[in-house]
Amino acid sequence: VNAPHVPVLEFPYAAPPPQGATIEVAPGLFWLRMPLPFALDHINLWLAREDRGYTLIDAGFGDARTREVWNTHFATTLDGSEIVRVIATHYHPDHLGNAAWIATRFGCKVAMAAAELLYAYSIAEQRRPFRQSDYGALFAAHGMPAEHVDGLTRRGNGYARGVPELPDTYQRILAGERLRIGGRDFDVIPGYGHSPEHVSLYCADEAMLIAGDMLLPKISTNVGVSPAEPEGDTLGRFLGSLAAFEQLPADTLVLPSHGLPFRGSSVRVAQLRAHHQQRLDELTAAVATAKAPVSANDILPVLFRRPLDLQQRFFAIGEAIAHLNHLCRAGQLDRRTAPDGAVRFAALE
Ligand SMILES: [Zn+2]
Repeated sequence: VNAPHVPVLEFPYAAPPPQGATIEVAPGLFWLRMPLPFALDHINLWLAREDRGYTLIDAGFGDARTREVWNTHFATTLDGSEIVRVIATHYHPDHLGNAAWIATRFGCKVAMAAAELLYAYSIAEQRRPFRQSDYGALFAAHGMPAEHVDGLTRRGNGYARGVPELPDTYQRILAGERLRIGGRDFDVIPGYGHSPEHVSLYCADEAMLIAGDMLLPKISTNVGVSPAEPEGDTLGRFLGSLAAFEQLPADTLVLPSHGLPFRGSSVRVAQLRAHHQQRLDELTAAVATAKAPVSANDILPVLFRRPLDLQQRFFAIGEAIAHLNHLCRAGQLDRRTAPDGAVRFAALE
């Protein structure tokens, strides 16, 4: 019997390393897991053994709970060795949070893309147009109720809480560059749409991808919109960035920042493309059947069927704006901005 071949992802590890322990996913390349204080409750980090010490890829959220786990690793996993470089895939607090703290402790450098460093400083130091109030104004223009916008303001600078220190100087990582990490060559694959200049690292010799947040096995990567570029087609950029992962060899071991390592990168890219296309189709239909032009906030229930907490609500409206921006860019929806700044979307006439 020829059963239809349904391509699936393969997960070589049934479970993550327990807190404070590691799993060696390739000779000298270690998987660590750290807690996160969110609905998404963990992040994967990677330690690559060098001739002297280790390169760390991503550093975990910069809170006391994660630093306690780090102190365990310093005493056990590192066993007197040093961290000689911290590479951050992007500026988000679960990745960059402890980078400067660790770099200061060991007297090493943080390496990352330039746009990621600049976003980190802009948000941590609340420079316009990256302030909480700029995000609040963007979401308000897209119909978010005042009580939720106020909730965002009341939270204060959540980014600085997750990233208490930033490096004074850094080593810049460029798209297309080749980095030597733990005795292996890794090509820098740029990713756009999730963050301004995300870095994924691909080792062609051993078909391994340190994916960061650009290719996750279970959840779809968050694609938001920055108040600095309110009409940006971040979803289009994200989907475009996936092409590089689609072309990797089928047996590539993907080491994602969330979830379990997997094989099947092109299968996962196809799933993500189908997922976003379905959402775009649903949005187009919802706007077409609406009696009046709709806001991003109006169509949240189309994209998210589950109840959302405040934190998820901000991710959700960013995601909604990104999808609507993409449809406008593709010439499938009409954007209308009222004199008071309110942004609404309508079917093309
Ligand atoms: Zn991220």
